[in-house]
Amino acid sequence: MDSQVSPGKEQMRGVEDEFVKCEKCIHIRMNRPLEPFAGVRTWTPELLERKSKWDEDQRKQKQLERERFLAKLDFDYEPLSYPWCDKLTEDSDRYVVDPVSGPPRKIYVLCGYANEDGKCKDFTPL
Ligand code: SF4
Repeated sequence: MDSQVSPGKEQMRGVEDEFVKCEKCIHIRMNRPLEPFAGVRTWTPELLERKSKWDEDQRKQKQLERERFLAKLDFDYEPLSYPWCDKLTEDSDRYVVDPVSGPPRKIYVLCGYANEDGKCKDFTPL
């Protein structure tokens, strides 16, 4: 998927230290930060207002993810700001099932959960 990458050093900056334990593994994945205003050359008051709202929504989403992470709750969606392990997520048989909408959603295995001690047996160097 184009929106997912093996994060580089720049993207890992600001992410908690324990994630760096997976930094050199081929199985780490992380979403690219969205930058919907990157191409804007002329800022109108309306655009500035939209960007301000966007920034605030992103900040709130990151805060929610941080609280979810610290509580060690499952991520049943692709994390926006935390790296996850593609291999362990694909190998896992953990899903959540929404009784209303139907299709099961996989649980993403976060690097911070799976490799806390930095001794992951599935580590595969880049
Ligand atoms: S959890 Fe293990 S296999 Fe997954 S990215 Fe980290 S080191 Fe690699």
